[in-house]
Amino acid sequence: MTQHTSLLDTLEHGLRELDAQGLRRRRRTIDSPCSAHMVVDGRDSIGFASNDYLGLAAHPQLVAALAEGAQRYGAGSGGSHLLGGHSRAHAQLEDDLAAFAGGFVDAPRALYFSTGYIANLAVLTALAGRGTTIFSDALNHASLIDGARLSRADIQIYPHADMDALSAMLEASDARAKVIVSDTVFSMDGDVAPLARLVELAEKHGAWLVVDDAHGLGVLGPQGRGALAEAALRSPNLVMVGTLGKAAGVSGAFICAHDTVIEWHVQRARPYIFTTASSPAVAHAVSESLRLIAGEEGDARRAHLKHLIGRTRSMLKETCWQPVDSHTAVQPLVIGSNDATLALQAALERDGLWVPAIRPPTVPVGTSRLRISLSAAHSDADLDRLNAALQRASLDAQKQVQESTQ
Ligand SMILES: *Cc1c(COP(=O)(O)O)cnc(C)c1O
Repeated sequence: MTQHTSLLDTLEHGLRELDAQGLRRRRRTIDSPCSAHMVVDGRDSIGFASNDYLGLAAHPQLVAALAEGAQRYGAGSGGSHLLGGHSRAHAQLEDDLAAFAGGFVDAPRALYFSTGYIANLAVLTALAGRGTTIFSDALNHASLIDGARLSRADIQIYPHADMDALSAMLEASDARAKVIVSDTVFSMDGDVAPLARLVELAEKHGAWLVVDDAHGLGVLGPQGRGALAEAALRSPNLVMVGTLGKAAGVSGAFICAHDTVIEWHVQRARPYIFTTASSPAVAHAVSESLRLIAGEEGDARRAHLKHLIGRTRSMLKETCWQPVDSHTAVQPLVIGSNDATLALQAALERDGLWVPAIRPPTVPVGTSRLRISLSAAHSDADLDRLNAALQRASLDAQKQVQESTQ
């Protein structure tokens, strides 16, 4: 008995420490579909928290496709992809994904996963192992960090987007095999990696280049084909990861690369092999989402999103805080301390605006921020509301600073 108590005590002590540091997370419960206007913890709110950049998550055509998929294929897949769970819907989606996103490589093929987290574990453990060195951007997503660790490769972290540092590390390395890995659009800063330089370095050093386009797919490039298409890059060294729960509005993820790379994953990637295939209905809905993204409706939504991004950039410059130079749907406002960030989040919440505070370990200590996430579902009136609340909070914060220095 006493043994039990002390185990729980350890955890409770840890939780109290999180409270003391302003690092305890609390989940909000949402009672509405994901859209610009949501019911958050029972309150009508304007949400600036989702990654639903094109506002497709509750699109009637996707809802209908999900229902149609369930009618046709049932609710569950029943097994892993290699043992009977790979349905016609998964196979069709993989063809659709390769056609949609695979323009960066000859003989493109795609492999569908139930989440981006798992896809990143798969790609890094399949391409890297003992004797490999993984070169990883300092601000990469947690799933890439965890995938690198799981691979048992050596890991070298280069300063964020610093291509001279990366070049020097590659020069100095005598690893048998090399993998460079980077987000395309960085998830908490919204900036875009120097992709052309990355491709150049990967080819020069015979390295794989894994890029995670979670925040680019659907948003960047012609027809929303992603960051590689936007930069018009092509290379056999490239391996792209895309996720389908963000701009695509459904869920899941994929790896796209040369056919041989994908076949290697089917044979060797444990996070692909040892898990149940997601519901075929979900795959069926994602195929419909790709048609929306690539079509005129997608173009219209991207144009509106671009307009909202421009407006947000100018309005953030007028606050007393530090905006990050981002041209994407991720618009961070760096506040600094956890407490001040939480206070701002709470002030906005009182105004019916749900803008999440992002704290360590998601971002470096001292750079806690609000992450304003824009969606084509937002109207200009929604942005007016956010702007009014932010400028009010900014004046309050400046007043407080003046009072404390008098
Ligand atoms: C969201 C995200 C993932 C994880 O994708 P899920 O489908 O949510 O598991 C991976 N990489 C990046 C950069 C992300 O932002």
